[in-house]
Amino acid sequence: PLVLGIETSCDETGVGIVRGHTLLADALASSVDEHARFGGVVPEVASRAHLEALVPTINRALDDAGVKLADLDAIAVTAGPGLAGALLVGVAGAKGLALATEKPIFGVNHLAAHVAVDTLEHGPFTGPAIALLVSGGHSSLLRVDDLSAGVTPMGATIDDAAGEAFDKVARLLGMPFPGGPPIDRAAREGEATVSFPRGLTTARDLQSHRFDFSFSGLKTAVARWVEARERDGSPVPVNDVAASFQEAVCDVLTMKAIDACRHAGVQTLVIGGGVAANSRLRAMAQERAAKHGITVRVPRPKLCTDNGAMVAALGSHLVAAGRRPSKLDFPADSAMSLSLIGV
Ligand code: ATP
Ligand code: MG
Ligand code: FE
Repeated sequence: PLVLGIETSCDETGVGIVRGHTLLADALASSVDEHARFGGVVPEVASRAHLEALVPTINRALDDAGVKLADLDAIAVTAGPGLAGALLVGVAGAKGLALATEKPIFGVNHLAAHVAVDTLEHGPFTGPAIALLVSGGHSSLLRVDDLSAGVTPMGATIDDAAGEAFDKVARLLGMPFPGGPPIDRAAREGEATVSFPRGLTTARDLQSHRFDFSFSGLKTAVARWVEARERDGSPVPVNDVAASFQEAVCDVLTMKAIDACRHAGVQTLVIGGGVAANSRLRAMAQERAAKHGITVRVPRPKLCTDNGAMVAALGSHLVAAGRRPSKLDFPADSAMSLSLIGV
């Protein structure tokens, strides 16, 4: 099926077009620069930016794909979770398009879309998979048996999300927002010489929180370490701190993801969300999974961070699976449950 997907849950206005599992267009307009000086996404600013960018971005995607609205089989849009006002712009826009073109509409889950996007890179999922979903707002391990039916949560962060930890640590190291990319770059110039804590990995933690994550202790440990250096008046080896922090995050994420695969007897690990763009996470996951005969699926970095293609990919999957479209009055759901694939 030919599907257009609209993403506006945070600060990226994304419009993607896919035919089956083939990506035809992935147009993106970001308001990230407008938020950078606040050190985080400002909801009102994001909503206004979506409003201005939505129609031009839809037109650009149609142009890039060389298709017309009339050719579409369906329209998909992120219904949640995300910023309420930002979601509303995409949902209202998608409903307007659906109404005008008389096309079916699918309101879909942003997190499931972060998993589904890998089908554009590596084809359909052939068996059960464990998904490691790591982004600015979420860090979860999920079991995926059939993406059109739902996912089963296995564990999640009990405090900060992995991406949030990258953003906070970057800030205290004087790096710009979002912090993932600059930490990734700095870490390549440094060495993981400091041993920072690995949250929820002691034998006792594992008993009650086997597949859960915790990153707030790590963030605090980095802050304390940097403060101690500054108090001494000694220079902070920023690249080494970045590398050490990144190593701790990737160690825990890959350790628990592979444990989840082995526990579930599943051979495929799919990694999605903005943090999946991290070069060390990608390398470490491949290396560790290979030792256990587990295949890692992770899309190219541009498809890991928020985009419209992921929404189109999930929409296309739902159409192909024969799922019924959403009713035209579905709401934007800022707290949409992970167990819902669509509305
Ligand atoms: P959610 O999907 O939970 O709603 P989100 O929509 O805020 O989160 P995503 O684009 O999925 O956004 O992820 C953004 C996060 O990914 C940010 O926290 C950012 O720092 C992080 N990130 C991006 N690139 C990298 C990288 N190379 N290394 C580590 N983290 C990264
Ligand atoms: Mg973003
Ligand atoms: Fe996201």
